[in-house]
Amino acid sequence: MTPEEITALLELQELDLKLIEYERHQKALPGLVEKIEGPARIARAALERVEAELAVARAQQRNVETELATNNENFKKLQTKQMAVRNQIEAEALQHELEALKDRADTLEETGIRWVEAADTAKERLPELQEAAEAADKVAREAREKLDAKTGELKRIHDEASELQAPLLAQVPNRVLGYYKRLRGAGKTPFAAVIRKGACSGCGFRHPPQKLQEIKGSKRMLTCEQCGRIQVWREEEEEKIGF
Ligand SMILES: [Zn+2]
Repeated sequence: MTPEEITALLELQELDLKLIEYERHQKALPGLVEKIEGPARIARAALERVEAELAVARAQQRNVETELATNNENFKKLQTKQMAVRNQIEAEALQHELEALKDRADTLEETGIRWVEAADTAKERLPELQEAAEAADKVAREAREKLDAKTGELKRIHDEASELQAPLLAQVPNRVLGYYKRLRGAGKTPFAAVIRKGACSGCGFRHPPQKLQEIKGSKRMLTCEQCGRIQVWREEEEEKIGF
């Protein structure tokens, strides 16, 4: 490859790394969102559960009160009947019914007390749960804002890089580009590795001197025999470390 083609390929790769960062971020996004919103959802669910418990307890309390009122009315009706009782058998039957109603009233009162207690317990727990849910919401909101900002910034960099790539694609030979795209698809960065200290900078494999000369002088694209990455020679890279 010519130095110009190598420069274009490396610039293309530089931009690709930005695209890849955004792609990876997009892939990780659902997990990140879940991690942020999970705790708030759990806190909200705990609050809603206790709110539901309170609603049930209050509804049951009202049912018991209604039943008790009916029971009391029936009791009074029977008491009125008692005044007009004609014989012993009727009197005993009435007495029996009155006792049953009294027992029922006792049971209802006990049940009523249990629902009042259940409502009180739920009510006591509410403020703490409300506070926890609000705090978790706030944390989630702030984390979400930060994440959205990061996503936006990565997207901006991605779009910019994508635009800058267009003219470079025409400067890299098709054969190189095709192979480069396959490596990019496999996802192991870098795809084009500069030779450093006589070795592939992708995997560290040291090339024999003859291969190095080939990479340096060849018009063909050469790859690393260990990792398969495109090997490129940049004079300044080797000068820096005095090769
Ligand atoms: Zn290699």
